[in-house]
Amino acid sequence: MARIELRDVFKSYGNHAHVIRDVNLDIGNNEFCVIVGPSGCGKSTLLRMIAGLETMDSGDCLIGGQRMNDVAPAQRGVSMVFQSYALFPHMTVFENMAFGLRLSKVPIDQIMQRVGEAARILQLSNLLDRLPKALSGGQKQRVAIGRAIVREPGVFLFDEPLSNLDAALRVQTRFEIAKIHRDFGRASTVYVTHDQVEAMTLADRIVLLNTGEALARDGSVAQCGTPLELYHRPCNQFVAGFIGSPKMNFFPGTLVSATAECAQVQLAQGIVVQARVNALSLPEGSAVTLGLRPEDASVGHQVQHLTCTVQWQERLGESTYLYLDSGSSGNPWVLKTAGNSFARTGEHIAMTLPAHHLHVFDSLGRAMHRTVANQDLSLSKPVSNAA
Ligand code: ADP
Repeated sequence: MARIELRDVFKSYGNHAHVIRDVNLDIGNNEFCVIVGPSGCGKSTLLRMIAGLETMDSGDCLIGGQRMNDVAPAQRGVSMVFQSYALFPHMTVFENMAFGLRLSKVPIDQIMQRVGEAARILQLSNLLDRLPKALSGGQKQRVAIGRAIVREPGVFLFDEPLSNLDAALRVQTRFEIAKIHRDFGRASTVYVTHDQVEAMTLADRIVLLNTGEALARDGSVAQCGTPLELYHRPCNQFVAGFIGSPKMNFFPGTLVSATAECAQVQLAQGIVVQARVNALSLPEGSAVTLGLRPEDASVGHQVQHLTCTVQWQERLGESTYLYLDSGSSGNPWVLKTAGNSFARTGEHIAMTLPAHHLHVFDSLGRAMHRTVANQDLSLSKPVSNAA
């Protein structure tokens, strides 16, 4: 019923470069698809094109198998929740939630029943007579979500719905959105965010859009896959750097030699390290970049390691992040250690670079395939993990 297909979609504003470039997506019934990327990469534009609030320069948008290019927003069977809530200030919570149903001439008893049920799910039952100005930010966003639910759409569209909420409310509302998607079994959800944690925790599938920095293909799809696919098998350096917090560490180097399963790379610091990769097809002498996630490094001399100077540390309780001097290679490297570990600023430590955790990228940022131990990356997140 609510499958969404985007085919060969392009969009630019005025004479500017493409904001959306050659996007092809097929979002299935009941799928939770998160469109993520840095600010300005075109996420909202893409969502608004599905909603019918923005035109496409070329390409097609199909919902439930029907071409929607010329169909008005109200006729597309979609409900959209905006970052800014977009509530009518002079209407009560009940009236805000009932507004779309009244316009569609739904009988009053059905309106009462649907609004009552949505209010119960969203814990708004005792707030139905209030005006928006008498609500907290979290309550306003729940009203906006309720207004979307009561229309019983085939497609839910969320545009950065949590951005205006504080940290605790963000987690709670994230969980509610995941539950709503699960409970409205047939509806598909497309959710836009710049926050990779929201993307990782909510998505069945993530669509990460490129920006201008990434291979000069802004507005195109950098990678589309399950959260764990993007995390463990990023297809390029941009994806690797965007997914994961703190970011993946990068080490520039030169390919010394390569066998069927292993690349030997000389780093700028002079040491040669091994990285497990499949069928590397780069000539010796090629410039490459190694990538290592902060949690995959550790302190110790047992395996290949770099000696680094601690610049500062962040103690989070359950873990400690050590920020290490990366020499001339830009941002400090980050190493995640146990919460009770301690290192002094200025202290020299050995950061291990385990061969089976290193990613290898060529000079264009493309990832060489790693040999990863048996991991099922196809599984989407169960709702119980979404908080
Ligand atoms: P995101 O949601 O990823 O932050 P948007 O889709 O809002 O990005 O915008 C993508 C790019 O298109 C930005 O550079 C933005 O300035 C530009 N843009 C968005 N809407 C318009 C508009 N109506 N007119 C001109 N430029 C726009």
